[in-house]
Amino acid sequence: MKKLLEGAKKLGLELTPGHLEKFEVYYRELADWNRKINLTSVTVYEEVQITHFLDSLTVIAGFPSPQDKPLSIIDVGTGAGFPGIPLRIARSDIQLVLLEATAKKVEFLRHVTLKLELDGVEIVRGRAEDIAHDDRYREKFRVVVSRALAPLNVLVELTLPFCAVGGRLIAQKKGEIIGEINDASRAVNVLGGKIGEVRDITLDEFDDDRCLIIIDKVKTSPPQYPRRPGIPVKKPII
Ligand code: SAH
Repeated sequence: MKKLLEGAKKLGLELTPGHLEKFEVYYRELADWNRKINLTSVTVYEEVQITHFLDSLTVIAGFPSPQDKPLSIIDVGTGAGFPGIPLRIARSDIQLVLLEATAKKVEFLRHVTLKLELDGVEIVRGRAEDIAHDDRYREKFRVVVSRALAPLNVLVELTLPFCAVGGRLIAQKKGEIIGEINDASRAVNVLGGKIGEVRDITLDEFDDDRCLIIIDKVKTSPPQYPRRPGIPVKKPII
């Protein structure tokens, strides 16, 4: 886990041998389960350290400060656990909910979080469109994270309803983001958000430009959002 260790240092994170041992176990389980179910196309040891683990940890640069402890976070559409699980491994003060729609991925998440002995992690199987209407999760989180789920205008409908007023959505993005942000301006406003800042992530470890789009939750999301499953993607707010 040398690449991860070095990259994390540049983010201001000192990973301990205990952390690295957990990332090692996570890697092994990911590679092992990936033979049975499709979790990731990236399985080479060095690549996983950068593409999945380090990339997930960059989200810490977008955390609010001063931070509440514990910091409540939901990861929407977490897949094999990114970025939620690496964040929780590195930061034991995180209270984490992992939300994922696909049953087999949920099975992996349950297995790997047990294996990693992570406490303070709840795994929810379901679609954001449904779970966001459940009182236990609606507007309950200080931070909402999500990677590779949807274009920003769709993403805000699927994620901002989870965010408490005063909290924030941290979306990991790469490529042409100015256009994506412009296209999402109405959706952000409708869902009670306000574009906060765009933080560039510039580490030599990544061969492309990536950033964190931070959207502050400034008012309650109207109760009709998110719309029924599939509608946010089919008829995005424009
Ligand atoms: N965040 C992970 C996975 C990205 S793929 C990563 O970056 O590696 C998107 C994931 O979101 C898939 O696992 C898919 O099953 C899940 N997903 C898609 N739409 C969803 C929805 N509406 N609610 C919950 N999960 C969803």
